[in-house]
Amino acid sequence: MESVEVQQITLTDAWQALSEISDPEIPVLSLVDLKIIRDVRVEGATATVELTPTFLGCPALDYMKNEIREKLLALGFQTVNVELKLSPAWSTDLLGEEAREKLRVFGIAPPEKRAATLAESLKKPVVCPYCRSSETRLESSFGPTLCKQIYYCEHCRQSFERFKTL
Ligand SMILES: [Zn+2]
Repeated sequence: MESVEVQQITLTDAWQALSEISDPEIPVLSLVDLKIIRDVRVEGATATVELTPTFLGCPALDYMKNEIREKLLALGFQTVNVELKLSPAWSTDLLGEEAREKLRVFGIAPPEKRAATLAESLKKPVVCPYCRSSETRLESSFGPTLCKQIYYCEHCRQSFERFKTL
């Protein structure tokens, strides 16, 4: 069997392909934006991806693993390993300013930076992504997914989703 020319696939190509995978729950962000993909290593025709799920037992985990494999196999890798890296745990503090801005534009209040204590975190107002008012209240703690909550803005009278600080 003729071997495929794999030498040209660089780490940059691998990151580029992975940055095209949207998060199944937050399609505006990629797995790379979310820092769910922690690291990628390339050795010849083998790519190894380190994945940190947002929660243990995340139902989207198999979907994400398959997407990663398909993307990298399509790029020409012959072997794709997906390693789960559970420590250090994923936290919303990993999200960069660019990712937070994408959430805002999409109408989701980005997670606040974690305060020293849970009590302090709960005291911080949730800012409306549409009008930036902090006159907001929790409408339901059962959002469409575990990581989101529904808030209501008293100022512009719109409901919006908030990405919970984790
Ligand atoms: Zn508002």
